Amino acid sequence: MSNKIKILLVEDEEAISNFIATTLKANDYAVVMAHTGKEALSMLSSHCPDLTLLDLGLPDIDGTDILQKIREWSNIPVIVVSARTEEADKVNALDMGADDYIAKPFGTSELLARIRTALRHSAKTQNASQTGNVFQAQDLRIDFDKRQVVVDGKSVHLTQIEFKIVSLLAKSAGRVLTYDSIITELWGPYAIKDNQILRVNMANIRRKLEKNPAQPRYIFTEVGVGYRMVEE
Ligand code: CA
Repeated sequence: MSNKIKILLVEDEEAISNFIATTLKANDYAVVMAHTGKEALSMLSSHCPDLTLLDLGLPDIDGTDILQKIREWSNIPVIVVSARTEEADKVNALDMGADDYIAKPFGTSELLARIRTALRHSAKTQNASQTGNVFQAQDLRIDFDKRQVVVDGKSVHLTQIEFKIVSLLAKSAGRVLTYDSIITELWGPYAIKDNQILRVNMANIRRKLEKNPAQPRYIFTEVGVGYRMVEE
C-alpha cells in the first residue's frame, strides 16, 4: 500500500475534489487532500507527495503564489487545474514552474494522461542517464546526436533553428511549452518576446513534418499558450 504514488490534491470545491479523489484512487494512486492554500503548503512538507494537482482559485492564497512558494524549495511535478479560461493565467502558471495545466471541465482520461506524463518526466529528470538520444513518435524519428529527423522513413532537412525547436519540444514531449519559454531557450533571456518568428518557423516545420499541416499529428498548438509535441 505504501508503494502507491501519492498525489496531493489541492481543491476547495468539495464536489470536484471528491470526484477527482475517487478517480485517482480507482486508478491506484494514494490521495491526500487540501482545501486551502495554507493546508496545501503544510501537507506538502508533511506528506511528501509525488505530484500535486493545484487549483488556482483557492479561498485563502492564490494558486500562483502557492506555486511560487513550492518552487522555492521543491521540484515536485505540479499540474495546475484551473477553471480560469484566461490564457494569460495558464501561461503565467507554466512560466512560474508548473509542469502542465488542465482546464475545467476535463475528462478523466485526459487528467490521468497528464499525470502519467508529468510523473514520467520527473522520473527522467531524476535519472538523466535513462534519457535516450533518440525520440520516436509514430512515424517521426529524431536522432539528437546526429541532428537527424526522419519522417515516414525519409530524411527531412530542417534549418538549425527549426531543428532546435523540434528537439526542444521532443525532449518535453507530452507537455506544453509556452511561447516565451521556447524563445528564451533558443534566443536567450533578453530576446524580444515576439511570437511571430516562432509562428513562421512552426509553419515551415509543419510543412516539412506533417502530411496535412492544418491537422498536425506531431506538434499541436495550444492556442494563446504554446506548443505540445505528441508523446507516442
Ligand atoms: Ca477553486
